[in-house]
Amino acid sequence: MLLLIPGPVTTRPEVRAAMAQDFAPWDNDFRILYADLRGRVRAISGGARETHSAIALQGCGHFATEASLRSFVPPGGRILVPATGQYAERMMRLAREAGRVPVPLAVPGNGTVQPEAVAAALAADPGIGHVGLVYSETSSGVVHDPAPVGKVVREAGRRMILDAVSAFGALPLDVAAMPELDAVAFTSNKCLEGMPGLSFSVVRLDRLEACAGQAGSWSFNLADVQAQYRRSGDGSFRFTPPAQVLASLRVALDLYDAEGGQAARLARYRENARVLYDGMVSLGLQPCLAWEVQGPIVVNVRAPADPAWSLQGFVDALKSRGFLISNFYNTAEPSFRVGCIGAVTPEDMQRFVAAADAALHALGIRNRAPVASAA
Ligand SMILES: *Cc1c(COP(=O)(O)O)cnc(C)c1O
Repeated sequence: MLLLIPGPVTTRPEVRAAMAQDFAPWDNDFRILYADLRGRVRAISGGARETHSAIALQGCGHFATEASLRSFVPPGGRILVPATGQYAERMMRLAREAGRVPVPLAVPGNGTVQPEAVAAALAADPGIGHVGLVYSETSSGVVHDPAPVGKVVREAGRRMILDAVSAFGALPLDVAAMPELDAVAFTSNKCLEGMPGLSFSVVRLDRLEACAGQAGSWSFNLADVQAQYRRSGDGSFRFTPPAQVLASLRVALDLYDAEGGQAARLARYRENARVLYDGMVSLGLQPCLAWEVQGPIVVNVRAPADPAWSLQGFVDALKSRGFLISNFYNTAEPSFRVGCIGAVTPEDMQRFVAAADAALHALGIRNRAPVASAA
């Protein structure tokens, strides 16, 4: 079964096999493994050891985002969040429930975040200290380039937090060139193609120091984790880590390097997305986005108008043909979504297109055109 969802993703058998063992996290061999992984992940972000630290927390992507917000945005602090979709909403909820004040910035249609709009919002509200951006908005499939947004944040003397959960490892990132970035959040799964269970924040050490003591949570206090590294070593953990996930991430990163790193991974995902997008069009289906704004992580396709359409029915018909896609959608119009990330290839996408055609036939769907848009 191939998972064609934007997380958890399909992983390679070597990665899964690395979990089939017990580990003691405080064992000296294991500490070396963890310290080494932190260095490798930091290097992928573009950060240097002197300026940046890759901090792992037990848990999923939301945990790294919450920890990043709590550790850098002061209680009561205002954070401007371009409203790109579901994941921007989630960042705002995490901020709000942590006692920070999210300030949404409207992003029209399926457009990308405009740096000028961010600059204007920051100029209009001097009380905003941070901007929170979702790099790859997994609900829409649109990629929002953090570099030009970061530039206006830097020029306005503000700070930035980046949700790179569905981007890290595939989309380009260089934290060294973005000193305005306090933290970048991501996980061991998604584009790194490790097992889920670990979340990471790559943070600026000088800022972490300056903001220490404001997290309002022990579990989500990144400065406290960094203090632990200083006290007990780079490979130490405060609380029990998912050791098997760490061990399998080492294999996943070996495969990442062997593939050719970020550029090669992005090229594969882009090709996956292209084969999928063109294939859906060739079947008479209509993707939600114009190709020009379609990112390489997830493709949403509008549901056929045919009365025989049922998302769960389609999902089940695909499942019996070896592909699992989400049985929910995040777009305004009814749709289905297909992830292009994970250990899948353009050939897999080609096979998926054929399976989708067969599934539509099996469901008796004649009219594949979408319902006329409400807009
Ligand atoms: C997957 C994802 C997350 C986090 O999801 P978890 O289920 O907490 O791992 C956050 N942001 C984006 C953009 C994502 O795609």
